[in-house]
Amino acid sequence: MAETADKKEILRGGQFLVKETACEDVFTPEDFNEEQKMMKETVKEFVDREIVPNKERFEHKDYALTEEVMRKAGELGLLGIAVPDEYDGLGMGFVSTMLVCDYISGATGSIATAFGAHTGIGTMPITLYGTEEQKKKYVPKLATGEWFGAYCLTEPGAGSDANSGKTKAELSADGKSYKINGQKMWISNAGFCNLFIVFARIEDDKNITGFIVENDSSNGISLGEEEKKLGIHSSSTRQVFFNDTVVPVENMLAGRGEGFKIAMNALNVGRIKLAAACLDAQRRIIDMGVKYANERVQFKTPIAQFGAIKYKLAEMATNAYVCESASYRAAKNIEDRIAIRMADGNSHQEAELKGVEEYAIECSILKVAASEDMQNCADEGIQIYGGMGFSADAPMEAAWRDARISRIYEGTNEINRMLAVGMLVKKAMKGHVDLLNPAMAVADELTGIPSFDTPDYSEVLSEEKAMIAKLKKVFLMVAGSAIQKYGPELEEHQQLLMAASDILIEIYMAESAILRTEKNVKRFGEDTQKEQIAMAQLYLYHAVDIINQKAKEGIVSFAEGDEQRMMLMGLKRFTKYQNQPNVVALRNTIAEKVTEENTYPF
Ligand SMILES: Cc1cc2nc3c(=O)[nH]c(=O)nc-3n(C[C@H](O)[C@H](O)[C@H](O)COP(=O)(O)OP(=O)(O)OC[C@H]3O[C@@H](n4cnc5c(N)ncnc54)[C@H](O)[C@@H]3O)c2cc1C
Repeated sequence: MAETADKKEILRGGQFLVKETACEDVFTPEDFNEEQKMMKETVKEFVDREIVPNKERFEHKDYALTEEVMRKAGELGLLGIAVPDEYDGLGMGFVSTMLVCDYISGATGSIATAFGAHTGIGTMPITLYGTEEQKKKYVPKLATGEWFGAYCLTEPGAGSDANSGKTKAELSADGKSYKINGQKMWISNAGFCNLFIVFARIEDDKNITGFIVENDSSNGISLGEEEKKLGIHSSSTRQVFFNDTVVPVENMLAGRGEGFKIAMNALNVGRIKLAAACLDAQRRIIDMGVKYANERVQFKTPIAQFGAIKYKLAEMATNAYVCESASYRAAKNIEDRIAIRMADGNSHQEAELKGVEEYAIECSILKVAASEDMQNCADEGIQIYGGMGFSADAPMEAAWRDARISRIYEGTNEINRMLAVGMLVKKAMKGHVDLLNPAMAVADELTGIPSFDTPDYSEVLSEEKAMIAKLKKVFLMVAGSAIQKYGPELEEHQQLLMAASDILIEIYMAESAILRTEKNVKRFGEDTQKEQIAMAQLYLYHAVDIINQKAKEGIVSFAEGDEQRMMLMGLKRFTKYQNQPNVVALRNTIAEKVTEENTYPF
C-alpha cells in the first residue's frame, strides 16, 4: 500500500509498475532548493579547480593526487554530506548526497571511484550497521577525510557470488578478538585507506560476517601491487592480504553471519550513487562534444550542422536527461521514505537502511541504465571527435576507458538486471507489490474485444502517458505468464529474466522523463519545454522498440500455439502509437538547442 508523507502519495519500491504516478509527485532537478543549488555550484567549482586542470596527471597513475583531492573534498565537507551532524557530517538528505556524488564524479572516473568507495561502501556499513561506539570512533574521521575507507568483499574466487568468500575469522581462546586470514581482490582505495570493511566467514557459517579493520601493516595486513587497469588510472586498486590480522570483537559489524546482508544493503546505496556518478560525466562529454562539433569544419561546414552528428548530440542529450530524471526521482522517494520511517519513530540508522532497501529495485535499474548510457555517450563522444577521439591527447579517450568499469562493479549489470526482476517477484509474493491482480486484468483484456475508440491526445504528453500505461501491460503480460509457466524455476531462465529486466528498465526510465517534463510544462509553460518534450518523446520511441523486441523474444521462446498468437497480438496492441512521432524532427529540435547553447543546456 502507498503511504503518505506531507499528504503526498509515495509509492513503494517497484510499485511504479502497477500504479500511476502523478507528475506533481515526482521530484525533478528543477526542484532543487537554494541550499542544493549552492551545493551544486560549490562542487562544480571544486571539480573545475582541483580536477579538470589535472586531468593529464590522473591519466598517469598519480595516486597521490587522488588522495590529495579526496582530502580537500573532506575539508569542504563533501565527504560527510550524508553523515548525521553528531558524527561531524553535514546531515543533509538523500537528494543532496546524490547531487554531490553526481557533480563530483564528472571529470574523471578515478575521483568518482575513490569518492564512491569511500563515502558509500567504505563508510555506509558503519553508519548503517555500526554500534554507537563504532560510529563515534570511526565515522567523524571518515566524514571529514582525516581517514579514508575501503570495502573488502571480492576475492579471487568470490566475485558475483559474494557470499562464497574463503576469508576466515577465528575467535581467540580468550574470546576478545578475531584473527582474520584471507585474500581480497580489486579493492578500491586500498593504497591510501586507513580502514577496511572486511567480510570473513566464522567457522562454517552459511553467511559471512562484517568487521571494521584498521589498516596497520604491523598487524598482518599487506597489499598487492597497483592493478594495471583499462581506465580509472589514478584510482588505487589492489589486492589486500590478511595474515593473522587481529581484530577486537567489538569491531564486528552487526551480528555474526550478518555480513552478506550488510554487503548487499551497502551495495543498494552504492548502485543508485553510481547512477548519480554517471550523470555529470555525460553532461561534460556532451559539452565537449558539441563544442568540438561547432568548431570542427569539414566540407566547409561545422560538423555540428550535419544530420549524422545532430543524431548523436540529440541521442546523447536525451539519455543524459532521462538518467537525471530517473535518478533524482528515485533519490527523493528514498529521502521521503526515510522521513516517514523517522516520523514513525525509527532511528535515522534504521530509517535509512529500510528506506534504501525499499527501493532496491530502482537502485538496480538505475545502475544498469546510467552505466550503459554513460558508456554509449563516451563512445559517441569519440566518434564526434573522429581521429582525435582516439587520441590520448583529447579528452574522449580517457572518458571512454573510465566509463567501462561502471558496468562491472557494484554488481555487474547482468547480476543487477536479474536482481531487479527477482526482487520484484519476491515483493509480489510477499504482497508488497500487487502484480497478480493487474496481470489478471491484462489477461482478461487480451481475451476481450479491443476498444475501437479514438482517444483524445491533444494535451501535451497525453499519448506518451497512455503509451507508458500500455507498456506496463506488456511487462505484466510477459512476466505474468512466464511466472505462471515456470514458477520458482524462472530463476533458471536467465535469458527471459534479462529480457523482462530490459522491459522494466525502459518503462521506469521513460516514465521518469515524461513525468519530469509534464511537471515542468505545467509550471513553466509548454513553450519553455519544447526540447524536453522532444527528449521525452524520443526516449519513449526507442523504449517502445526495445520493449517490443524483448517481449517478442520472451513470447516466442516460452509460449506456443494459441497462447503465443494471443500474446503477440496483445504486444502489437500495447505498443501501437496512434500518432507516430517524427523522430528526425525530434532529434533536430534537441540537437539545434544543444548546438545553439554550445553545451548540455537542460
Ligand atoms: C576497478 C575495480 C574496482 C573494484 N572495487 C571493489 C571494491 O572496492 N571492493 C570489492 O569488494 N570489490 C571491488 N571490485 C570487484 C567487483 O565488484 C567485481 O569485479 C564484480 O562484482 C564482478 O566479480 P568478478 O570480477 O569476480 O566477475 P565474475 O563474478 O566472475 O563474473 C564474470 C562474468 O560472469 C557473469 N556472471 C557471474 N555470475 C553470474 C550469474 N549467476 N548469472 C549470470 N551471469 C553471471 C558476470 O555478470 C560477468 O559478466 C572492483 C572491481 C574492479 C575491476
